[in-house]
Amino acid sequence: MAAITPLQCAKCGACTVVCPVFQAGGRESLSARGRLHLLERLDPAQASDAYAEILSQCLLCGACRVVCSRGLDPPARLIAARERLEKTAGSQVLLRAITRKALGNPALLATISSLGRPLLERLPADSGLRLRLGLPVEGIAAPPLPETPGKKSESPSLAFFPGCYATHLHREIGEATKRVAAAFSGSSPLLPKQQCCCGLAAESAGDTSTAKRLARQNILAFSGNTLPILTSCASCYSRLRRYPELLADEPEWRAKAQAFARRLLEFSTFVAQGMQADPAFAFAASPKRRAVVYHDPCHLRFHAKITNPPREILRTIPGLRLAELADGPQCCGQGGLFHLAQPELAGKIRDRLLNQLDKAAPDLVTTTCSGCLIHIRQGLGHSPSRPEVRHLAVLLAELL
Ligand code: SF4
Ligand code: SF4
Repeated sequence: MAAITPLQCAKCGACTVVCPVFQAGGRESLSARGRLHLLERLDPAQASDAYAEILSQCLLCGACRVVCSRGLDPPARLIAARERLEKTAGSQVLLRAITRKALGNPALLATISSLGRPLLERLPADSGLRLRLGLPVEGIAAPPLPETPGKKSESPSLAFFPGCYATHLHREIGEATKRVAAAFSGSSPLLPKQQCCCGLAAESAGDTSTAKRLARQNILAFSGNTLPILTSCASCYSRLRRYPELLADEPEWRAKAQAFARRLLEFSTFVAQGMQADPAFAFAASPKRRAVVYHDPCHLRFHAKITNPPREILRTIPGLRLAELADGPQCCGQGGLFHLAQPELAGKIRDRLLNQLDKAAPDLVTTTCSGCLIHIRQGLGHSPSRPEVRHLAVLLAELL
């Protein structure tokens, strides 16, 4: 029998226990082990429809990488395979292609956003489209939040990367992040104009050249200063901090990507550190007693290993009681554009989460990822009996 090299899958099955897609679909081909087995034998460039479909059925959540007994990185191998794939698999191919095209083209995205927003603002509160986009009932044209309380200094001490959702669709998240940032740093953060999509959607689709182009543009956009770069989107943070790996084979960009990544500041970590540095600081009490569940985005939980700061912050807020799901944190099934490509699997994964939420019966669900927020809101609907879903930045801005 041939010896197993360290880079080969040991078929131990540890990944099957944590893989949300395998748990939802129950087929070996849906696990990291099954996909690696196929990748060792079949060239993605000559993929059949069925093989292409299997390669598209991974959320790239990173749970398997954390537990892998051989230290393998199955999501990275999946991304590399998708790069070689010559056919598109999964549902809603056109919608995904348009979405990726828009995300890869900042000018096009800004145009779509400015044309589409007035229409979206007119959607009635119970509109299905509003639900599908995860828009808050109160509307997306959130007016800028009131002036930040507390001290003000002249020059910004932070730069801000809001990401596409908070720039174009969920502006209330961007405004809330700015307000919380100002409360701790003393001034509104700088918002460099040339910044663009973090590139996660392009990377997930195997479009590495677009992901690299967007990375270079973002690095340039923030190169005018050396301020820490705050972001309140878990998915963006996860993608931005891996720019050094993405641009590792480009000598003229490698050092710039490393310097960029060192400046990144994840929102909940920033707030928790700010509270530690200023023991006199306290968020106001919740206007009513509420049980709150913090939903861990996979991009923070598995990629960045940030799970405690949001919980530490929530525990300090009078009137909030932090509740946990009986089976521990669960993936929501959104995974970049996975929910569009694989709606049935994404729905099953989300149903497991909703089931757990039903049992925990919180009044409020909060998270730090715009993608998770939208997908959970869609799943819960707008029924008044369901828990509210709010981005952590929005929740905290209300309690300043
Ligand atoms: S990245 Fe997530 S969805 Fe993909 S194989 Fe690993 S655990 Fe499963
Ligand atoms: S945990 Fe790693 S080594 Fe074990 S079956 Fe999964 S991919 Fe293979």
